Amino acid sequence: MKINAREFSNSEITVTYDPCICKHADNCAKQLSNVFRDSVIPWIDINGASSAQIIKQVNKCPTGALKYYLNKKEVA
Ligand code: SF4
Repeated sequence: MKINAREFSNSEITVTYDPCICKHADNCAKQLSNVFRDSVIPWIDINGASSAQIIKQVNKCPTGALKYYLNKKEVA
């Protein structure tokens, strides 16, 4: 089990962040600053861009500190 992992969810996806392996290269903050924000808590605004844009940016994280998964849809 990972320690210090963080999770941020919207209705479609959940982004996880592991500060222990982040290299702070700031790729995410420079390229999608509406979501990955410097000096704001919480630093990920999961509603700052579309899920597709967030997934695209998460896939560019060089260390794997950012990951995502699709949320399960609830059956009515
Ligand atoms: S892109 Fe990944 S490694 Fe770089 S600052 Fe963002 S979370 Fe950290």
